[in-house]
Amino acid sequence: QTADSLYIINSFAQQFFAKQLFETEEGQSIALSYLKERGFREDIIHKFQIGYSPRQRDAFTSEAIKQQYNPELLTKTGIVAERNGELMDNYRERIIFPIHNNTGKIIGFGARIIGKKENAPKYINTPENEVYVKSKILYGTYFARQAIDKNDECLLVEGYTDVVSLHQAGIENVVASGGTSLTPDQLRLIKKYSNNLTILYDGDAAGVKAAMRGLDLALEEGLNVRLVLIPDNEDPDSYVNKVGAQGFNEFIRNNKKDVILFQLEVMLKDAGNDSTKKAAAVNTIAESISRINKVEDFTRKQDYIKKSAELLKIDEAGLLTLVNKLTS
Ligand code: ATP
Ligand code: MN
Ligand code: MN
Ligand code: MN
Repeated sequence: QTADSLYIINSFAQQFFAKQLFETEEGQSIALSYLKERGFREDIIHKFQIGYSPRQRDAFTSEAIKQQYNPELLTKTGIVAERNGELMDNYRERIIFPIHNNTGKIIGFGARIIGKKENAPKYINTPENEVYVKSKILYGTYFARQAIDKNDECLLVEGYTDVVSLHQAGIENVVASGGTSLTPDQLRLIKKYSNNLTILYDGDAAGVKAAMRGLDLALEEGLNVRLVLIPDNEDPDSYVNKVGAQGFNEFIRNNKKDVILFQLEVMLKDAGNDSTKKAAAVNTIAESISRINKVEDFTRKQDYIKKSAELLKIDEAGLLTLVNKLTS
């Protein structure tokens, strides 16, 4: 009941924001020009139903009230906020990215500031409500599901603009985590479409850390995880704009790494000749391997033990014993 009302308001809001973007002087000069400068084509802006929320403090609110939408429900969507007893817009002078559920209904929005501003958050997201449950959402699933199915692979990126830019480059099997760590529900959502997850995170320290945090969880869910680190100071959006679709595909192909072995490489490099650190690496990797619990993944587990023992220059049987001890 409430859910249906929220879908209706969100859909009304999306149409309002899209109209502001394409059909007003303010939208065209501030927002559409910004999107085009970043390289987004009009057809892709339409496809993702991107919009613009104007500067005027109650641009959307006054229109919604005029159309007799319920104020309580309006605030629930997060598009409208109450300040000092007055209703007004929560997103002002921002690019609006609608977030769709698997059937294409709009459940929320990501609102990006235009350009760089020091004292305001870059993105504002929808608050939790009956239809927007952050831990269960991945941005882009509605547009990606067919391609994920076809390629039997799901690419995971951090941001909205990464998803949109990759689509524009013809890479459609891609969803975004929204920059936070993956949850079991999100991984199960991916697993419905494919067992193969490729994480494309920024090559900076934060990106590596975020990718690693998702790893153990993904293994527990029985996903086959691979990792691509995007070069320093780039993300998939900026990088595909820099090297083009073909260059991007090539980069992915040449830099896809098995994530357990990648983790081991990182730890070994860090350990050098330090035997304490090396012993810690053995334990960490044994723990990761022990998380591959499914009977059907037995060969994969054996394969990891063999390859890891080689890299660690230790006895395979010893590593197997350790892994078995850690397997609950
Ligand atoms: P752009 O290319 O427009 O700068 P981005 O996606 O590259 O956007 P990042 O700073 O890399 O932006 O952040 C990755 C993702 O994390 C964003 O797409 C957004 O979902 C989320 N995020 C970033 N900053 C915030 C914030 N201040 N509040 C909420 N979510 C945020
Ligand atoms: Mn980053
Ligand atoms: Mn980014
Ligand atoms: Mn970016």
